[in-house]
Amino acid sequence: MRVDGTVASDDDGSRGGGNTDYGSAWARVKRRLRAELGEDVFASWFARLELDAVTGGTARLTVPTRFLKSWIESHYLDRVLNTFKSEVAEVARIEVGVRGTGAPVRPVAVGASKASPASGPLARLHATGTPVPVAAVASAPEPRGADGGGDLSGTPLDARLTFASFVIGRSNALAHAAAERVAHHQGEGALYNPLYLHAGVGLGKTHLLHGIGHAAREAGRRVIYLTADRFMYGFVNALKTQSALAYKERLRGIDLLILDDVQFIQGKSIQAEFGHTINALIDAGRQVVVASDRPPTELEALEERVRSRLGGGLVVEITALDEALRVSILSARLAAVRASHPGFDVSPQVAAYVARAITANGRDLEGAVNRLLAHATLTGTAVTMETAESAIRDLVKNREPKRIKIEDIQKLVASRYNVSRSDILSERRTAAVVKPRQIAMYLSKVLTLRSLPEIGRRFGGRDHTTVLHAVRKIEKLIGEDSVLGDEVELLKRMLQD
Ligand code: ADP
Ligand code: MG
Repeated sequence: MRVDGTVASDDDGSRGGGNTDYGSAWARVKRRLRAELGEDVFASWFARLELDAVTGGTARLTVPTRFLKSWIESHYLDRVLNTFKSEVAEVARIEVGVRGTGAPVRPVAVGASKASPASGPLARLHATGTPVPVAAVASAPEPRGADGGGDLSGTPLDARLTFASFVIGRSNALAHAAAERVAHHQGEGALYNPLYLHAGVGLGKTHLLHGIGHAAREAGRRVIYLTADRFMYGFVNALKTQSALAYKERLRGIDLLILDDVQFIQGKSIQAEFGHTINALIDAGRQVVVASDRPPTELEALEERVRSRLGGGLVVEITALDEALRVSILSARLAAVRASHPGFDVSPQVAAYVARAITANGRDLEGAVNRLLAHATLTGTAVTMETAESAIRDLVKNREPKRIKIEDIQKLVASRYNVSRSDILSERRTAAVVKPRQIAMYLSKVLTLRSLPEIGRRFGGRDHTTVLHAVRKIEKLIGEDSVLGDEVELLKRMLQD
């Protein structure tokens, strides 16, 4: 049933599901979208949209970035669905995944759709983990349209991220204990509600959340694990199709809601819904568990009321992994790898060196193990101190965050609003150009370290007061117009992707 990689050309689709040629149908869908939406819009949003598979009425599409996925889901899902449906009547649902995240894009198992709508974003599938879909909401599966109702199935849990594989140390002992208690809690009410975990990147938040999900599910509780993205676009779609009420009702039918990376919840209307949902669940005695990269008080984007509700349960920080913990995590990983690669031998000295050199986080420790393994496999030699040093060199030095260029901002905003970059730099003052120009200036201010005069220069030699005016104007509009707010937020995410 899989359609391979590129299906842009007419005849390269595989023939699955009886005699339907999905590849050709998809090529026709793309041609129609191009004709209907125009070359610019098509090139911005659809050129890199590819068909992965059609299974049980669901067409799985993929794009290279999370942003594109979000954008297509929130702006074009209905259109894509309707166009596809008119080519292939059996297509009742569209799912968009992210490809190229190191994980193979998996086709949905045939028949799996009954028990679990299996609609987690592909981006979340880990390279070697077998994703186990969380039990969907208890209610019987019902036909779901493109309204994103399937989103309620949550994001799949990674089978590797369990309590058993979580190494406990000083920096995470409290978080782990709280997670265990919440996961194993029986009986009425919730313990600490919400349980709020926060920590920098790679310190094990997601691992703990998945651990809670697995354990609670094994205990027969109805669990939904959602990333912020998943939550947001579930709501965006539900709001668009006026099914928000149903969506909320369904959310309330669960025992445990786990939300990861809530700092990404953006956009006024969605934040409001987020607040309502959290309140409703907690008031109904359902357990809520949340993770974020910052404490609740620093979730500036959220209303004070919501922040204090989030901080009203148990807030636990996971601090930087100390050396002893890094050694333990590394040893556990090495042991796990050795189980499948018996020849792979890393001396305790080398392990100690790696654990000392890589101070940042668990993700880099995992990266280090992969490199050592690659080295050992390729050369067929034991890992020495020297080879370890060169294998992990780039993990050791500090990695700079991505630098965003003003030019890229201008290009993206121009393509989004169907104007050219030179329009943005020009003197033209028609509304069609002024607004994108102001948005681009605003994004330049918030996403780069450039000064206002510098930004002015890069926008066709404008004065810094013009830039300041634009920044204030867009800030104000975002506050008043949640659609614009969401749009700007999505542009931001795309640039940061
Ligand atoms: P976060 O969500 O905080 O960014 P993750 O949970 O994704 O971090 O962790 C990053 C990687 O480090 C994962 O592979 C995870 O399994 C691993 N890791 C982090 N902390 C631990 C721990 N205490 N024990 C085992 N593995 C850990
Ligand atoms: Mg995480």
